[in-house]
This record gives sequence, C-alpha cells and structure tokens, in this order.
Amino acid sequence: MAFEGLASRLQNVFGKLRGKGKLTEDDVNEALREVRLALLEADVNFKVVKDFIAKIKERAIGQEVLKSFTPGMVVVDIVNKELTELMGGTQSKLAKANRPPTVVLMVGLQGAGKTTLTAKLAKLLQKQNHRPLLVACDIYRPAAIKQLEVLGEQIKAPVFTMGDQVNPVEIAKAGLQHAKDNGNDYVLVDTAGRLHIDEQLMDELKQINETLNPHEILLVVDAMTGQEAVNVADSFHKQLTITGVVLTKLDNDTRGGAALSVRAVTGCPIKFVGVGEKTDALEPFYPDRMASRILG
Ligand code: GDP
Repeated sequence: MAFEGLASRLQNVFGKLRGKGKLTEDDVNEALREVRLALLEADVNFKVVKDFIAKIKERAIGQEVLKSFTPGMVVVDIVNKELTELMGGTQSKLAKANRPPTVVLMVGLQGAGKTTLTAKLAKLLQKQNHRPLLVACDIYRPAAIKQLEVLGEQIKAPVFTMGDQVNPVEIAKAGLQHAKDNGNDYVLVDTAGRLHIDEQLMDELKQINETLNPHEILLVVDAMTGQEAVNVADSFHKQLTITGVVLTKLDNDTRGGAALSVRAVTGCPIKFVGVGEKTDALEPFYPDRMASRILG
C-alpha cells in the first residue's frame, strides 16, 4: 500500500495524542514537530510542509481546542481537514466537452506510464458507456505504437495509428477526424515522452495542443520519483498549462511525497492514480479518502 511509512508514523503520533485526555500547548507542538519530520521523510516539498504545519498550528493551538472534551481528536480532525485541502479538497473529475468528442492529451516523460494510462482511461470510460478512440502519437519510443495496439485489443477499444513516419501533429489531427466520423465521444491521445524535458518535446506538444485544442491535458508522472515528479509537473505546467495530474505507480510508492505536494506546488489537481500495471488499475483521486487512509 502507498504511504506506508507516513501513515504508520502519523498514526503513532496521533495515537499518543488521542490517548492523553488533556493537552497542553507543548503536547501539540511536540506532535507537530513529529508530523513535520514524518512529512519531510515522506519527501513532501519543504515549503509545503512549512505552510501546512503553520496552518495547523494556527487552528490547533487555541484555548477552545485545548479545553475541549477530546482535544486529541479535535487536533486529528484539523489535520485530516488540512491534509484533504492540501491534496485539492474535493475530487476533480475528467473534463467532458459540451459537444463531443472530448479530447484528452496524455503528456509526460518517457516511462511515466502514458501509454498504459491511455488504455486504463479508455477502459474506465467504456465502463461508463463511452466510446473512446485511442490515438498513437508516440512515434519515437520503439514499440509504443504496438503497445497501444495490443492494449487496445485487450480492452476492445479502437486504436488509430499512422505508423511512425508521419508527423505526430498530423496523426493527432487525422485521429480527431476519425473519431468524429466514427462517433467516438472521447479521443485519448498518447504522446511521446523524453528522458528529460527538452525544447523539441515541448514544441511538439505545443503544436499538438494548438491543433487539437484539447479539453484536458493530463500530465502523467511517476509517484515513485517523489519531488522529482513535482518538479517535472511544475515545468510542464509552466509551458503547457496542464489541466490535471495523474500519479502512476502509487502501488509502489511507499513515501507519498508527490501525492501530497503536487497540488500545492503546481495548483493542478490530481485527477487519477495508477495502482498497478493492469488496465483496470486506475482510480479516481479522492483527497478526503486519501487523507483518511493516511491518518488511519
Ligand atoms: P510511457 O513511456 O509513459 O508510455 O510509459 P508506459 O505506459 O510504457 O509505462 C512504463 C512502465 O510502467 C510499464 O512497464 C508499465 O507497465 C508500468 N506502469 C504504468 N503505470 C503503472 C502503475 O500504476 N503501477 C505500476 N506498478 N506500474 C505501472
């Protein structure tokens, strides 16, 4: 499970606090010191931690809280609410065009999980009775097109390809037309990634963006890379104005720093999390449920 380390540390801190009955200001300060360390160890962005602790302190260290009947529980409740806010507050849903098709662009670094996400998202949409079309615009990574075709076959969703000798912008344009001609109400475009963010990658994505005018640009980042994922998200957002983040490989992320920082740093909501390699291993992201899971 994700967040194991953080969850067990926080549960420990708050378990002690809950068990105390009456609390003093020192008790709360001591607990928040431990929370701060736990968050930093979980690879949460330094400034995010600082602001988070300051907010909780402001709300938790007041006579009303300390004099309440169950001060430990009140403090935990405050932390729960602030954690939920930190991750975006409410669930942020996938965009839906007023006039279909809804166009969704998958962007991110190579290996982040874009191709896998394209298929996962298609499967999720199929379950909601939509008819997604997958468009293969990653012409650089060897076998990316084949991978999308294989996944499409698995989930029985159509995949639009033009091979790897055609400009991705042209493929994207033709793919959109194909969707319109065939009554597909979602167009999911898998784009190329690189090992690092570079100008060529961004130029290509900007061109596809201008051509398709997508309703949603989902940035796919590997949760296991922690702060690096947050930095990648920040850089992409500055250049491309992404509309949402998908954190992949959360099933292997024992720390949770990316999930806790990415919203606060970029302002972009996390829309989905990938929790495995299979096509059904995708979950909508619910900040409140995630906070409760962390706090136990
Ligand atoms: P792309 O280069 O961004 O298109 O990345 P891929 O979709 O090919 O994914 C790279 C690797 O990560 C593949 O081996 C995927 O099976 C794996 N992967 C993708 N998403 C997840 C996830 O949520 N959990 C796990 N454990 N593996 C994932």
